[in-house]
Parts: sequence; structure tokens; C-alpha cells
Amino acid sequence: MTNIEVKEFLKKVKAHYQEFKCDEEFIIREWIENLIPYDKNDIYEKFKEHLENESVQKEVPKIHVLTKWLTPIQEKKAKKQPFKGQFICRWCGEKCSNTYILSLHEERCLRLKFVSKICDKLLIDPKPFFGNLFQITLDELDNQYDAFILKVIEEEKKQHKLNNFEKAGIRDYYNHVLEKREEN
Ligand SMILES: [Zn+2]
Repeated sequence: MTNIEVKEFLKKVKAHYQEFKCDEEFIIREWIENLIPYDKNDIYEKFKEHLENESVQKEVPKIHVLTKWLTPIQEKKAKKQPFKGQFICRWCGEKCSNTYILSLHEERCLRLKFVSKICDKLLIDPKPFFGNLFQITLDELDNQYDAFILKVIEEEKKQHKLNNFEKAGIRDYYNHVLEKREEN
């Protein structure tokens, strides 16, 4: 919570408990110091629980009651971070079971990023080629990629919307994969 949020919160407590003393500087400071590490929503939730709990609702809530069992924001953030040795896709955050699966998955996500950017630029509907982009596997993507690239080349000839980097990517794929395939 921020200083201001704590002060706002104290007003709310005061509204429920007339006898609550929160106008002295040192009391306010004490509340601020103790509530700052926590998430505003968590504190409000705890306060609500306190108000609804018949066995304690008559008492003014104490700081330690409101912060009991709560996880500080810093700790929450740390928990969200992947542990060492976990295989997390750097593009979509999906967890994979080993490095091999991760490399295939990341390749897929990277390719999808490219595909969706190109589709946006050239107003190509990816559905006829790839179906649901969120569920497609790398194999399925590979199977449809040639047809997609041919469509991109056709559209780009008319629209001229791709940048040099994107054009180079398409050209590379065409020269190294498509042309060779046609030769065979
Ligand atoms: Zn991914």
C-alpha cells in the first residue's frame, strides 16, 4: 500500500469504529509502516472479514490482526517468478516438461508471433491456414506454412506493407525451403 492508501484505509476504519484513534502522527506512522508491505486489496479483504466476524466485530481491528497470514507484495512477486531449472516459454510463459519440448514450443511461439504480425499487416485471415492459433502445434504449423507463405508473397506483391526484415524472412524461407521442394 502507499502512504495515501493507508490514510484512506484509516478513514474507513474510523467510519466503522468511532472510538478508533488515528489522528495522532505516531499512530498514523505506525499503521503506514506496517501496512506498506501489503497489497491494498488484501488489507481491505481482511478488514471486511473482521467486520463480518461476530466474535470480534465489536473490537477495533489491530494492525497484527489485519496483516496476519497475509503474504507481502514482494513475496508474492517472487513466487510468480520461475524457479531455476523450470522450462518456461519466453514468449507465452507456458511451462514445458524438458528442454527439448521447450525448444519446440518456443520455436512454435516465435513463428506464431511472426505469422500474426504478417497477418495483421496484410489483412490475411490466419484461420483457413492454421485454424486456432492458440492451440496449433509446431507440426501443424509446418504443414500449412508453405501455403501461408505463398499467400503472403501474393498479397505483398499487391500491398507492399512488409518491412525489410519481414521481407527477408519470407524470401529466405522461399529460397531455402519452397524452391528446393519444387525442384524435387
Ligand atoms: Zn510459448
